[in-house]
Amino acid sequence: MLDLMKLNIETPNQVVDINKLSLYKIEELPNGGVRIGALVKNSDLSYHPYIIKNFPVLSEALLSGASPQLRNMASVGGNLMQRTRCPYFYNTDFACNKRLPGSGCAAISGYNRMNAILGSSDKCIATHPSDMCVAMAALGATIHVQGPNGTRAIPFTDFHLPPGQTPQIEHNLKPDELITHVEIPALSFTARSHYLKVRDRASYEFALTSAAVALDIQNGTIKNARVALGGVGTKPWRSLEAEKALIGAPANNDTYKKAAEAALATAKGNKDNAFKIELAKRTLVRALKTVEGLP
Ligand SMILES: Cc1cc2nc3c(=O)[nH]c(=O)nc-3n(C[C@H](O)[C@H](O)[C@H](O)COP(=O)(O)OP(=O)(O)OC[C@H]3O[C@@H](n4cnc5c(N)ncnc54)[C@H](O)[C@@H]3O)c2cc1C
Repeated sequence: MLDLMKLNIETPNQVVDINKLSLYKIEELPNGGVRIGALVKNSDLSYHPYIIKNFPVLSEALLSGASPQLRNMASVGGNLMQRTRCPYFYNTDFACNKRLPGSGCAAISGYNRMNAILGSSDKCIATHPSDMCVAMAALGATIHVQGPNGTRAIPFTDFHLPPGQTPQIEHNLKPDELITHVEIPALSFTARSHYLKVRDRASYEFALTSAAVALDIQNGTIKNARVALGGVGTKPWRSLEAEKALIGAPANNDTYKKAAEAALATAKGNKDNAFKIELAKRTLVRALKTVEGLP
C-alpha cells in the first residue's frame, strides 16, 4: 500500500494501524487443518514446521515470493489484498480501468508480456501477482472476515473477482470488514504437494507462470488432485478442469499433458504474452511430474 501511496495511486484519507491486533497465531486444528492469523508474516508461515510437513506447496509458494526482507514484513492479509503489478496500473500517464474506471486499458494494446491469459475481459488484462494465493486456492482455503455486522467465511475462489466490466472491484471484502484469519482444511494428500514458479530471474521477481499442485496417487492411479495456476490469471486460478482430467487417470505424462490442455483451454493470448499459454502447460506438467516423484 505504501508503494501505491507514494505514486498517488491510492490516496486514503486515513490509515489504520492494525498491528496491535492479536492475529499472529498459526494454530493446528484438531482435524489436521490449520488456522492462520491475518497478521502472520509471510516468513513465519513459510518456515512453520507444520506447514512445511503438511502443506509444502504453501511454504514453497511463500518462499518464491518477493525477497527475504519483504517476506519478513508482508502479512497474510496484505498478501491476499495486494493489487496487480500491471505497469499501466502503476503509471498514471496511462489509461487504466482499475485505477480510473472508464478510462480504458492501455495494456490491451500496449506491452503486455506479463499480463493475464485467463479470466481477462475487454476492460482489463491485469494479472493477479500473488504466489501465496495460488497455493491457498489449490488447498481450498477459506477466508474469515469480521465487520460491524458479524463474521463471514468466504471460500477462497470466491474472494478475488474477475475483472468483467468492473475491474476496479477486485475482491469480496466490504469496506468495513477486516480479514481475521485463513483456514486451510485437512486433506490427506497435501503433504505431497509442490509449487513451481517460472520467472525472468530466480529471486525478487513476479511469476510469468506458476503451478500449485497436490496429488493423491494410489497404485499408479490418481485418486485426488488439486491444481491452481499463477502468473496467468486475473485472479489466483484454481483449475477444476485440470483436476477433473487428473482424477481417476493413470499417473503418467499423457495424463499430465491432458490436464494442462484442459487448464489452458480457455486461455487467450495477447500480442506479447501468447507464449505464456505453452509455458503454463509445461509448468503444470513439470509440477505434476515432480509431485509424482515425491516420496
Ligand atoms: C517489490 C515487491 C515484490 C513483491 N514480489 C512478490 C512476489 O513475487 N510474490 C508475491 O506473492 N508477493 C510479492 N510481493 C507482495 C508482498 O509479498 C506483500 O504481500 C505485499 O506487498 C503486501 O504487503 P503488506 O502485508 O505489508 O500489506 P499492506 O501493504 O500493509 O496492505 C496491502 C493492502 O491490504 C490491506 N490489508 C492488509 N491487512 C488486511 C486485513 N487483515 N484485512 C483487510 N485488509 C487488509 C491494506 O489495507 C492494503 O490495502 C511483492 C511486493 C513488493 C513491494
